Amino acid sequence: MENKLSIKTIGVVGAGAMGSGIAQVAARAGYDVILRDVKDEFLQRGMAAVDKSLQRDVDKERLKDEEKRAIMGRIRNVIEMAALVEADLVVEAVTEDVNVKSEVFRQLDELTKPEAILASNTSSISITKLGAATKRPGQVIGMHFMNPVPVMKLVEIIRGIATSNETYQAVHDLTLKLEKTPLECNDMPGFVSNRVLMPMINEAIFVLYEGIATRESIDGIMKLGMNHPMGPLTLADFIGLDVCLAILNVLHDGLGDPKYRPCPLLKRYVDAGWLGRKTGRGFYEY
Ligand code: NAD
Repeated sequence: MENKLSIKTIGVVGAGAMGSGIAQVAARAGYDVILRDVKDEFLQRGMAAVDKSLQRDVDKERLKDEEKRAIMGRIRNVIEMAALVEADLVVEAVTEDVNVKSEVFRQLDELTKPEAILASNTSSISITKLGAATKRPGQVIGMHFMNPVPVMKLVEIIRGIATSNETYQAVHDLTLKLEKTPLECNDMPGFVSNRVLMPMINEAIFVLYEGIATRESIDGIMKLGMNHPMGPLTLADFIGLDVCLAILNVLHDGLGDPKYRPCPLLKRYVDAGWLGRKTGRGFYEY
């Protein structure tokens, strides 16, 4: 089926860890990118991350220097939301807060082309709810990229209750052009990725809390026994313990099942400000 909408220009809202990565892979695949953040310094930080990531490929002779310059040249930095009027599709990658995201979707709905698709990179917020903040819920969809975006192959594609098949098909095809693998699911708390991952991490924290094994044993058993590239406690530190707790709360509230109850030890660590790698201390010290 030929899509009515041909995607040439991609908007990205939020130039953080994820948004800058999404801008990079889109520009590398030949799309014109409009990258928006609220302050110039955030845009500069995002572009520095793109530069560093592409330079690694130049150093390894996987990319020519002039190609790198051309890719960076396809990413236009803007503060004004109105510049997104040119975008055929926008990926929202702002802070994980339902009120902030709903407001971004409301604004995008007002200012983008009527046929533009609005995608969210949220890890846990309802796509259906974000769709309801717009007058085009059929064109709202989840595009859940994994961190680090240039490296990870998966994009979890989430259909909200109202997402149209045409929108799904366009986003599926786009994901392939970004050289990623799209895998689809319906919009329920945690989607598939966090619905399966977070209870495993939470269980590992309960095992530690109950004194059943040390952090090294828990991680070692999962690494060596299950062939996981890193143990669940190391992974939790990498993701951020505050992020893990927030996602578990979404599962617990959204599904109403006590099996998703966050481990009290996780709550204590978050209360202490021990959030993992980013604060220098989580289940491990960095
Ligand atoms: P981040 O904090 O690194 O970046 C968020 C950026 O959004 C910041 O630069 C901030 O200034 C900007 N921002 C906030 N409000 C804005 C607005 N109204 N308009 C434009 N920019 C705005 O966060 P991140 O880790 O990149 O996460 C972004 C999203 O991606 C979240 O929804 C998160 O759940 C999701 N996600 C994160 C990961 C991860 O591992 N970090 C993985 C998958 C999905």
